[in-house]
Amino acid sequence: LPTAELQLNRLELFARHLHARRHSGHKGTYGNVAVIGGATGMRGAPILSARAALHAGAGRVYVLFPEDPLPADSGQPELMCRLAEGYDFGQATLAIGPGLGDSATAADLLARAIASQGPLLVDADALNLLAHTPALQRALASRGATAEPTQHALQAARLLDASATAVLTPHPLEAARLLGLSVAAVQADRVAAARTLAARLQAVVVLKGSGTVIAAPGGDCVINPTGNPALATAGTGDVLSGLCAALLAQGCPPWPAALAAVWLHGAAADELAASGVGPIGMTAGELIPAIRAGINRL
Ligand code: AMP
Ligand code: MG
Repeated sequence: LPTAELQLNRLELFARHLHARRHSGHKGTYGNVAVIGGATGMRGAPILSARAALHAGAGRVYVLFPEDPLPADSGQPELMCRLAEGYDFGQATLAIGPGLGDSATAADLLARAIASQGPLLVDADALNLLAHTPALQRALASRGATAEPTQHALQAARLLDASATAVLTPHPLEAARLLGLSVAAVQADRVAAARTLAARLQAVVVLKGSGTVIAAPGGDCVINPTGNPALATAGTGDVLSGLCAALLAQGCPPWPAALAAVWLHGAAADELAASGVGPIGMTAGELIPAIRAGINRL
């Protein structure tokens, strides 16, 4: 599979969709992201994801929790923390899954997210719920077919992928559950696993881990060249989902958004490792300003 030459292609696709900020731009210009997750004991996961979305340029970022009580202090006052129940998703870009848990409320939120109108990213616990619920898999797979032809869809049709409206970001265990395979079987042929899931669920699939594979429903597939074992620490996946959601919210279609997010995430970790913040002991939170610097350099 191509890596190096597609790196250029990827950055070009990305740059075409993430324009320099307009002089007259305002927060509404850069999209709303809502991260849905954070059951009791896992409140930090969606907050990390939301912080990444904020630092990657989303205009407004919400964290929607499945249950009370809301955290007294998210550590990031720019984030708007709400209860997910009864919250109208509207056209927001949704990133559902970090620390979401497997409650009935969580499953209900995933069904609502799949039925929503905006761009969608499915991660972590939401992928596990999806693995257990064939009806949600069918709803996800037909999402592109039933969606109104939004600006996003029209842009995407001119790119490599016309149909995907969602990005899925499984690590190998989450992918194994979705495929009904062992982790060893997924790891033995990561490209096949990512392609199969992308075709089955009609979504862009990011199969994470060393040599992250990004696959589109039409069969396009890329192995990302950036990243290192500094990323093997809690929360880095949550940072990736927030970053990707921010690119979607700013108008980047799913395929280039996934490619760019994975590339930028790995490149930030490479830069931190080279400067001594890793490879041992880098934290997910430290990735966030490095990602922001990487985006602004582009
Ligand atoms: P998660 O398992 O959801 O927390 O996500 C972990 C993130 O770190 C993903 O983006 C992985 O691709 C990345 N990652 C973990 N281990 C490595 C590694 N050894 N080399 C490169 N990336 C890694
Ligand atoms: Mg994860």
